[in-house]
Amino acid sequence: MKSYKNVDELIGMVSERDPDEKEFRQAVHEVMQHVIPFVNENEEYQVSGLIERMVEPERAVMFRVPWEDDEGIYHVNRGYRVQFNSALGPYKGGLRFHPSVNLSIVKFLAFEQTFKNSLTGLPLGGGKGGSDFNPRGRSDSEIMRFCQSFVNELYRYVSSDTDVPAGDIGVGEREVGYMFGQYKRLTAEFTGVLTGKGLAYGGSKVRLQATGFGLLYFVREMMKNAEESVEGKKVVISGSGNVAQYACQKAIDLGATVISMSDSDGYIVDEEGIDQEKLDFIKNLKNNKGGRIKEYKDEYDVEFHEGSPWGLKCDVALPCATQNEIDKNDAEKLIENGVICVAEGANMPCTEDAMKAFHDSEVLYAPGKATNAGGVAVSGLEMTQNAKRLSWSFEDVDEKLVEIMQTIHSKCTEHGDENGKVNYLKGANIAGFIKVADAMIAQGHV
Ligand code: NDP
Repeated sequence: MKSYKNVDELIGMVSERDPDEKEFRQAVHEVMQHVIPFVNENEEYQVSGLIERMVEPERAVMFRVPWEDDEGIYHVNRGYRVQFNSALGPYKGGLRFHPSVNLSIVKFLAFEQTFKNSLTGLPLGGGKGGSDFNPRGRSDSEIMRFCQSFVNELYRYVSSDTDVPAGDIGVGEREVGYMFGQYKRLTAEFTGVLTGKGLAYGGSKVRLQATGFGLLYFVREMMKNAEESVEGKKVVISGSGNVAQYACQKAIDLGATVISMSDSDGYIVDEEGIDQEKLDFIKNLKNNKGGRIKEYKDEYDVEFHEGSPWGLKCDVALPCATQNEIDKNDAEKLIENGVICVAEGANMPCTEDAMKAFHDSEVLYAPGKATNAGGVAVSGLEMTQNAKRLSWSFEDVDEKLVEIMQTIHSKCTEHGDENGKVNYLKGANIAGFIKVADAMIAQGHV
């Protein structure tokens, strides 16, 4: 078999194959920096072609999405679905609508999703998709026509047993509803082909809150493990979308003070803390209404600044917007200001230099594949409810979410021990890898 002395050798092969896919390369490096040494020490994983298969998607489809705007003008966007790994179950992972979407970004997300889904303990493979469509400023009818056109092509590749997409940036309950409606029309089937659906037609309770709530359940475990507590801590959250809103809500519930939220225009600073009423104002502003976080400044007479909030003094930093939003410089500012804990609500929001800075300064740092897995976990529970034609209560699903996040935390501590400290990144990477690798080896060379 081909063995890799270190991760750089593998990255050389990945770069040669897809030289322009820098986000994908970054994600492969992030995972494989721990997996390669682990494989080199464990003979049972030294199986020919295993690592090469793990870094190559099983299938990637790219398609055109023509749609008509309200003025009668046609636009053509690009759609993607990357079905990365089905060793553990049907492909599962969200759809992102954002102008930055390209094949490299979808591949990085689908690759990470494979290990994240493995950590949840549920039978889910990894996939991701989306489009470079920009929903900002588009009317409700335009969004609906876009979603319908997107599904006119996507429907050939997905089903409740093969590939079950969900939401991500730019795709929330409204978009999932339009896509579900179009899928149903094309196939004449009412099945759980998408998760994140509305509660009236097969959605799960807690799915809306799951990623943000799950993030805080994980942070609570991290703090407990370090003999700390979330209560009384000053928290900075980036983003003001789905993940950020429910991270904020649970942080408030746990007795923390959230002093900042943001969007791509900038961030607000509310030293008194965002309380439930102020959070409701943000939700009203944002959800399908196109409002900007700047408007909070006028409502509550606080400061607004352009850029990102990482220069603020805080105990806990929760990046919940997008990839690579915390670089080395930002990490150094956070460390200088005494941050104790950084946990990722978004996917890959910290650059590798930033992660290294947190690691070297012994900041409690945990990666998205562990901390934001609550979203896909409740999506998995939504699939189970759909298959059984049942609907569980809020309390039941929330309790299951807490358990899943606690289990992921224990897997990270089990595999991430480093001289008595927890390296959450290493723990998540190795625990995620083991289950996928075991299943792939058992299923033979496919
Ligand atoms: P939303 O579309 O609901 O919100 C995204 C937020 O991030 C908005 O406030 C947006 O601001 C901001 N944002 C997006 N791109 C940028 C950018 N380039 N620079 C600065 N701010 C930006 O998305 P979600 O909350 O669903 O997703 C946020 C992150 O969480 C993503 O990384 C996603 O992959 C990850 N995630 C989401 C899950 C889910 O269940 N939704 C599950 C697991 C991970 P603006 O309005 O200005 O664009």
